[in-house]
Amino acid sequence: MKVFKFGGASIKSAEAIKNMSRIISKYADEKLLVVVSAMGKSTNALENILNCKFKNKDHLTPLSELKNYHVEIMNQLFEEEHNVFGLVNTIFDYLEETLAKSYAYDKMYDQTVSCGELLSSTIIAEFLKEKHIRTHWLDARDYIKTNANFREGLVDWHVTEELIKHDVHDIAASKLIITQGFIGSTSKGETTTLGREGSDFTAAIFASALEAEHVCVWKDVPGILNADPKLVPDAILFAELPYHEAAEMTYYGASVIHPKTIKPLANKHIPLLVKSFDKPDQPGTIIHDCTIDALPPCTIIKNDQVLISFKVLDFTFVNEENLSLIFHELSQVDLKINIMQNSAISFSIVVDNQPVKIDRLIEALKPHFEIRYNTGLQLVTVKNYTKEKIDSYGKMSNILLEQISRNNYRILTSPSL
Ligand code: ASP
Ligand code: MG
Repeated sequence: MKVFKFGGASIKSAEAIKNMSRIISKYADEKLLVVVSAMGKSTNALENILNCKFKNKDHLTPLSELKNYHVEIMNQLFEEEHNVFGLVNTIFDYLEETLAKSYAYDKMYDQTVSCGELLSSTIIAEFLKEKHIRTHWLDARDYIKTNANFREGLVDWHVTEELIKHDVHDIAASKLIITQGFIGSTSKGETTTLGREGSDFTAAIFASALEAEHVCVWKDVPGILNADPKLVPDAILFAELPYHEAAEMTYYGASVIHPKTIKPLANKHIPLLVKSFDKPDQPGTIIHDCTIDALPPCTIIKNDQVLISFKVLDFTFVNEENLSLIFHELSQVDLKINIMQNSAISFSIVVDNQPVKIDRLIEALKPHFEIRYNTGLQLVTVKNYTKEKIDSYGKMSNILLEQISRNNYRILTSPSL
């Protein structure tokens, strides 16, 4: 059994969907489960529709734009009277009805934003059937079971694994399976989502439960590179990477793979392939059990970072009590620290720009500290650095924070300085 995942970019147009079906048809004789994301930027579009609705702004115009986008693609893939148009209409009707309900934001988010994957998987399953590939549309919500933490559902691994093991091998014996990434449901059957970009994680969950031979993530890059090829033209492609190296890269901000994806695969020694959907015959990168003696330096950039500094109000030094107060509030608002540093009288953290959470943090800690923050920063991590690499960065004049350890060199810079 193999598990494939196609992200939004790989299915953003009729041409892209045809390309995807060509890739899949090469595996027609194998047991295959395919996880798909929402098409193109549909998830962002759905978030925008929802936000308009919550701000009492016109949400019907962006909604009809999203519908037109899907209909235009379907017009290029199907005959006029194909039943896919009815299926897609039903999803849009459901979306409109749901938007009219009075759910709290997070619950509403999952009930509506999940439609992106329902739409893409429906269209793709129908297209593959047209191409005479025996296809089964599987509702991921019947298998991926989570708690009711809307927008970041926590997977109930035991139940999920049992459900997948019970059915999926049998279905895959006679049909190709198409299912949705990113979505799940609670034990009551309410739709949940697993967090933005969560489709890779879905693929890992299915692969782990099915003890798959491998997972292949099809991307618009040739594999995992040691720098962003858009910024560094001579970036090197890794032929292979050990699991821990790939997991660390996602921690520092490499966006090729969702951070939660590696662990379930590593635990079961299931290789993860990252391949190009434009050049499917090229080997790409394989993440698996291996040791590599000297990895080249790898540069990972996280944009839109916020530096928050907490200064003790009286003339005492930062102590364990102050720190525990800060950490307690960070965990309360669920903000993750990307890097931290302390001095005698202040403690600084760098986090992703999540304004609502940051405001709540500052509000809670204001009575205890003088708080300052800078936005729009860039956090650069060079794993397995060389002296030359450090020298080239060290010359920069806009460095706000710098850290060097045995394996990593990290700097926080302000592009506006
Ligand atoms: N469609 C979702 C998102 O864009 C999930 C994914 O693409 O992985 O976040
Ligand atoms: Mg996506």
